[in-house]
Amino acid sequence: MKYINNKERLEQFKNEKNFFAIIDFDRTLTTGVSDASLGIIPKFLGGKCLEERLKTYNHYRPLELDYTIEKEEKRKIMKEWATKTFTILSKYLTSEKIIEDSLQDANLHLRNGAKEFLQSLYEKNIPVVIMSAGVGNLIKRFLEKEGVLYDNILLISNFFEFKDNKTYINTEKLMASSNKDYSKIPEEVRKILDKKDGILLCGDIVEDIRMIDSKRRNKTLTIGFLDHNIENNLETYNNNFDIVLADNENFNAVMDILNS
Ligand SMILES: [Mg+2]
Repeated sequence: MKYINNKERLEQFKNEKNFFAIIDFDRTLTTGVSDASLGIIPKFLGGKCLEERLKTYNHYRPLELDYTIEKEEKRKIMKEWATKTFTILSKYLTSEKIIEDSLQDANLHLRNGAKEFLQSLYEKNIPVVIMSAGVGNLIKRFLEKEGVLYDNILLISNFFEFKDNKTYINTEKLMASSNKDYSKIPEEVRKILDKKDGILLCGDIVEDIRMIDSKRRNKTLTIGFLDHNIENNLETYNNNFDIVLADNENFNAVMDILNS
């Protein structure tokens, strides 16, 4: 189901050649039923790692999807979730090879049309920022394997470092859904992006809109995928996104709308 909430912005954007795209990864580029990148490694390792991950996930995921929680409170809760999750991961992710192995049978699938969409942006020389509060190392490897990590793409995420058989990540500097915003893009890149006249933003939770700050939002076309809790969240999504694609829509729909 497609909801066009801001026809004017859409029409304006259709004529835009000089733009960049900013796209969330988990359940935006991937399908709504895919596992989140943060869940892939625990699922693969099983045991205590999975147990600890599920305990935190089952507690925090409903809170992430709850739009009745006050904003500041929610930011605090989401930050807490990220810290706990990455602490668990660094304990059990003992080598880079685990990432590669965990992708073998992972429930991680690009939405239909995502490949073609990314390819067309590459061919048109459109800069793409993929921003994710998930596991950067895993996302990078997945995009490589799918053959879509084009050199117009900048991936901004959380990256583990592997040195001398130890795993490092600075939990103080994590990107969580609470602080996933435009300022996370390196300044030298922002200088280039700021010369663009339009922005295309794709996400699957309302907070993803913050990937673009409010002063740049009037030149941004926002597209939101809504696959969960549709009945309760449709109104919120329609109030926040220029376009809402509900119930397992895909990037063919995005391209259809932009090219119509
Ligand atoms: Mg997402």
